[in-house]
Amino acid sequence: NDTKPVDLNEGLESTLVLVKSTFPDHMKLDKDFGNIPKVECLPGKINQVFMNLITNAIHAIKSMPQAGEGTLSIKTWAEDNHVKISIKDTGTGMPEEVKQRIFEPFFTTKDVGEGTGLGLSIVFRIIENHHGNIDVITKVNKGTEFIITLPVNSQ
Ligand code: ADP
Ligand code: MG
Repeated sequence: NDTKPVDLNEGLESTLVLVKSTFPDHMKLDKDFGNIPKVECLPGKINQVFMNLITNAIHAIKSMPQAGEGTLSIKTWAEDNHVKISIKDTGTGMPEEVKQRIFEPFFTTKDVGEGTGLGLSIVFRIIENHHGNIDVITKVNKGTEFIITLPVNSQ
């Protein structure tokens, strides 16, 4: 369980390669990877965070009537001694009562078999273990943005 310095842009890129085949046809992918320092972290865990957030974003876009016109935006930038990662979708968004509960284990609004409700609880725990932070901005029928803040050196 040793941490190492990781280029998170590379982690995002390899996660995108894995999920690309599930993108809706014609969905736009908007990448804006900044010049960011390497982050001391557990790369397997951080890649799981990216995977869970991107998978949710794709599901939210696919759930819109015009899924093909959706956009997935992924952005990274440096701020003080932190790296910020934004994963934003033009999907369904969430009402306030859903937003309040998304980090609870087993909370899901998906049909049986579609979601376990564990993804975001795992994301939350991993970010917490890295002394990071996660913010959510969401609007029903407009979309959702998750912003992760990670200290460059959490050790
Ligand atoms: P699951 O994906 O298995 O339902 P998660 O923990 O990943 O479990 O997400 C919990 C719930 O949070 C989802 O069921 C959904 O209601 C909501 N959610 C998560 N990400 C998004 C998103 N990008 N857009 C809209 N709703 C979301
Ligand atoms: Mg999920």
